[in-house]
Amino acid sequence: MADTLSRVRRSWLMGRVGPKNTTPEMAVRKAVHRLGYRFRLHRKDLPGQPDLVFPRLRKAIFVHGCFWHRHDCKKATFPKSNVEYWSKKFHENVDRDTKALEKLKALGWSATVIWECQTINSDELSERLVGILRETP
Ligand SMILES: [Zn+2]
Repeated sequence: MADTLSRVRRSWLMGRVGPKNTTPEMAVRKAVHRLGYRFRLHRKDLPGQPDLVFPRLRKAIFVHGCFWHRHDCKKATFPKSNVEYWSKKFHENVDRDTKALEKLKALGWSATVIWECQTINSDELSERLVGILRETP
């Protein structure tokens, strides 16, 4: 009985401090911080202003919302009205993202996108980040 109660309470508490109250970007920042990496935010001098920048590693991370940046997942639903407006908007976003990644690559940076839906499970997120940040260019 006590166990059940505490489990319920714990999940309630976790729900309160979990992904619902944090943006995907905050989740990534927190996870990177926990892994002990230092980073800069939104460097304006780099193409696309990456969300997290690791100058010494010459690596950059974009944290993209699945809907706005059209991830191939079920979060990227397509609005039923104003179809023309949305397809234009989405096309512009994806185009901008692609160009930023290409430009960064040309400048010798290794840039990675972390999708909103990949930030929900913090263990998986940390694993992904370790993979990104450890990998040598
Ligand atoms: Zn997604």
